[in-house]
Amino acid sequence: MIRFTPPQLKAIVDAAEAAFPAECCGLIVGVAEGADAVRVTAVHPSPNLALAATGRRDRFEVDPRLRLRLHRELRGGAEAVIGLYHSHPGHPPEPSATDLAMAWEPELIWVIVAVAEGQAIQVAAHRLAPEGRRFIPVPLALADTAP
Ligand SMILES: [Zn+2]
Repeated sequence: MIRFTPPQLKAIVDAAEAAFPAECCGLIVGVAEGADAVRVTAVHPSPNLALAATGRRDRFEVDPRLRLRLHRELRGGAEAVIGLYHSHPGHPPEPSATDLAMAWEPELIWVIVAVAEGQAIQVAAHRLAPEGRRFIPVPLALADTAP
């Protein structure tokens, strides 16, 4: 399970709508909560390097410098980069064949926002299966108001 606060999830949804009809992307920082759950502690938007490099609206690439910076800042602490997010303009929030080809870290949760006509309509989370050739769904929850 991946657990967001409402403002964290809203930040991702807002980024997805703002980037439409292109894809947004960013990294998700969190802490482990038990064996199979993570609690999100921060959401970090990234420039979409694929959009900048190719102009294609159906690709994304998180800036590796953001990942590096977060790794440095979080080293030694309980928080870590636990996932990434991007949007699917005009498509459901299921990982695409391109997503599968780009995914290689089973520990990362992929949060995908489906956007239709500029409105976010669905959010889903997945992670790479241990054998690495398919995605499996991850339950997504909103945190209670109290920590
Ligand atoms: Zn995708």
